[in-house]
Amino acid sequence: MAQIQLNILGETMQAGVEGLKYAAHKGLAVVIMEPLMGGYLLNNIPAEVNELIQSYPEKRSLVEWCFRWLYNMPETSVILSGTSSLAQLKENLRIFDHAAPNVMSDEDQEFIHKIRDAFESKKSIGCTGCWYCMPCPQGVAIPEIFKLYNSYQLMNDPHDKLMYPGRRRPLARGSHARLLSTFLA
Ligand code: SF4
Repeated sequence: MAQIQLNILGETMQAGVEGLKYAAHKGLAVVIMEPLMGGYLLNNIPAEVNELIQSYPEKRSLVEWCFRWLYNMPETSVILSGTSSLAQLKENLRIFDHAAPNVMSDEDQEFIHKIRDAFESKKSIGCTGCWYCMPCPQGVAIPEIFKLYNSYQLMNDPHDKLMYPGRRRPLARGSHARLLSTFLA
């Protein structure tokens, strides 16, 4: 069994789709984690993405498109989806009730590309929040700071700037902190 991180924004990140296909080709069942980037995808939806979703003839939510893109690939064995409410669990059950490989048309795949492009045009730092870089020896809260920075780029919400000082650790005096202070100034 192999477990990899994969989502619509991470087609080529880490193992990516290529890794998924390689592992499956070697006879491994592949478990997908972070299908929604720990909720990041849903918490930071640019207006352009909402417009794309609303104008597409096939009406599905972003979360449904994210899962659909994953289970569409026959190499996917299991998709791990964390839920924080009964409503989310019910929504997931509804979506996966119709899960099957090869359900997406060429137009659907092109639509996913457009969604990805809309996200990428807003996103500045490709941090998925996996926390593999933590703890930082300089005491910098790396994923939290990157999350704030990306969120600010996406939503332009001044609240993200206000949150920044509280997310620095007491020893945050390394180059990362100085660089990010410059970004957020
Ligand atoms: S910066 Fe840290 S948390 Fe972000 S993707 Fe890289 S290793 Fe993961």
